[in-house]
Amino acid sequence: MIHADAVAALRDVAALFYAKNWSLGTSSNYSVVLEHDPLRLLVTASGKDKRKLKATDFVIVGTDAKPLEPSAEKPSAETWLHVVLAQLPNVGAVLHTHSVWGTVLTDRIAENGFWIEGFEMLKGLAGVTTHEHRHWVEIFPNTQDIPALARDVQARLQGPNPLQNGFLIRRHGLYTWGRDLDEARRQVEIFEFLFEVIAQRR
Ligand SMILES: [Zn+2]
Repeated sequence: MIHADAVAALRDVAALFYAKNWSLGTSSNYSVVLEHDPLRLLVTASGKDKRKLKATDFVIVGTDAKPLEPSAEKPSAETWLHVVLAQLPNVGAVLHTHSVWGTVLTDRIAENGFWIEGFEMLKGLAGVTTHEHRHWVEIFPNTQDIPALARDVQARLQGPNPLQNGFLIRRHGLYTWGRDLDEARRQVEIFEFLFEVIAQRR
């Protein structure tokens, strides 16, 4: 995706997520892959108001989560998670939200994850074709050591039963990714719907 288009598309997504109460204040961060090899990842800069992101509220980072060019803006610590996810094949965008229901749900569920099963809305997740699908949502601890968390997530993206579509961080929020920004945005919509249903039911 070219830089100017990615900035415009991310500003749109940010306005939508703010309106939906999924990303209030300066919470959350969003990224789009400009180039895969070598990685050039456009990511929201640290501490920006998500109600109205400006065209300058972004920074381009590489695989070390540091700006590729001198920039007045700083990437947030959570950029490490975006970098790990953006290096997966077929990932074009990574979205991270801080919603009420994702927070409530991970506050109430003590285990390291939960299954979602039997809901029609599951079919909105990439690769899911039937509501009979059983989807595992892993919950990671809300450590402030983001590089360590990024290593844990990277380990769970490999091997048997790797993470699919997204995961939660306890009392914090959702990470999801997609082939492109539209797919990632749809997955946020699906996950947030399902989180609210499950949390309200409990
Ligand atoms: Zn966060």
